[in-house]
Amino acid sequence: MQDIRSVLRDTKPGASITAKGWVRTRRDTKNAVFVELNDGSCFNGLQCVFDAASLDDAARASLAQVSTGAAVAVAGVLVESPAAGQPVELKASGLTVYGPSPADSYPLQKKAHSFEFLREIAHLRPRTNSFGAVARVRNQMAFAVHSFFQERGFQYVHTPIITASDCEGAGEMFQVTTLDLDAIAKRGEPVDWTKDFFGKRAYLSVSGQLNVETYCMALGRVYTFGPTFRAENSNTPRHLSEFWMIEPEMAFAELPENMDLAEAFIKHLLSWALERCGDDLAFFDKRIQPGLIAMLDSVRSSTFAHMSYTDAVKELEARKDDFEFKPFWGCDLQTEHERYLTETVVKGPLIVTDYPRDLKAFYMRRNDDGETVRAMDVLVPRIGEIIGGSEREYRHDVLLDAMKDKHLDPASYWWYLDLRRYGSAPHSGFGLGFERLMRYVTGMENIRDVIPFPRAPKQADF
Ligand code: ATP
Ligand code: MN
Repeated sequence: MQDIRSVLRDTKPGASITAKGWVRTRRDTKNAVFVELNDGSCFNGLQCVFDAASLDDAARASLAQVSTGAAVAVAGVLVESPAAGQPVELKASGLTVYGPSPADSYPLQKKAHSFEFLREIAHLRPRTNSFGAVARVRNQMAFAVHSFFQERGFQYVHTPIITASDCEGAGEMFQVTTLDLDAIAKRGEPVDWTKDFFGKRAYLSVSGQLNVETYCMALGRVYTFGPTFRAENSNTPRHLSEFWMIEPEMAFAELPENMDLAEAFIKHLLSWALERCGDDLAFFDKRIQPGLIAMLDSVRSSTFAHMSYTDAVKELEARKDDFEFKPFWGCDLQTEHERYLTETVVKGPLIVTDYPRDLKAFYMRRNDDGETVRAMDVLVPRIGEIIGGSEREYRHDVLLDAMKDKHLDPASYWWYLDLRRYGSAPHSGFGLGFERLMRYVTGMENIRDVIPFPRAPKQADF
């Protein structure tokens, strides 16, 4: 069976084909019924024309069941289309209805639906233009992630999802347990975590970085790409409780090389989208974010700006009345600050480096000033932070000092510290939030609309 994408792209008029898919629209005229069939293989559907005069009784009976949402097979001959907007159409002769879709109850009628409403029917929303397009772009972006790293000799490492490190320093964690906490509470006993499944408390991973560093110190250039979990109670359009993260790690690389990698990576992803997702991006450009394609195109040929945190704060202080949160040296950059820097000051992607060490994780390499670390955040217009990364602290004693500073127990990081005892080397890496990238590439506003089944506070349906 051919999918509609290859029919529209490769099939010559005159060919007999059978197309299978879901009905998007049905329009009846005096002499014909026009059915737009979509199978998800591409943005466009195939127009199928049923000529009333030439239909036999069986086909006419089946046609009665054809309405928006129905799953059908249509056989016929591909012909050049007289109508504007499509080069070919299917002159139908046969019809099978696998599953009708009663119009009085099917929630996705032809009219436009709000994204809020569509979130409530996440099992049906992939059949809409927007979510079909998001799914196809997401697929291509995942492929592009692997192509980028594989072409550059990075090896894909699978890091664990369950972790028993009692703190990874990246965010609030979800606990994983098989204990019957209700029963323990009823007995009035304290919880004995040594009786839990792993013999201690366990959590869902907030980042694969610490694990991937161990493979970096053996394979050189590695990356992980998997689900991560954060139990932050932030109901924002940019945070999910479950999201996918890409984390490369390079041995013998310092911050400048890390910044170059991040820039090349983002450009590769944008180019890939522009080259392979043209129809879907055209839709986003027209309906979701006007100017999207021109923006993506200009970023791929731009040079990312660089700025130290200290200079960034100077820029912000000069305009401090514009911000709800007043900036000062030592403050964590808020989204409003990040957006001002990237949208107004540099008007494009910006890499901010050398943050105060109090703001950043223990594993970042300390600068000689003793106050800042070799961190880098990549900020892009509309999104703010899309990448967070750093050069890692590879000096054992400085790392130990940083851990104590942050009240972390070195004993639970014994293996991580071992990497600094045996064959330690400079290395760097970063994390790209896959859904932040998806928002950037598609122009979709809410992060819950760029992942098939969003997980957020009080939201885990489907
Ligand atoms: P933010 O300050 O925006 O919450 P962060 O500093 O907590 O991000 P990192 O710990 O540096 O983020 O994580 C690396 C990347 O993972 C971020 O740059 C971002 O792209 C993504 N990310 C972080 N938290 C989330 C989340 N809750 N949902 C989706 N993506 C996220
Ligand atoms: Mn966060």
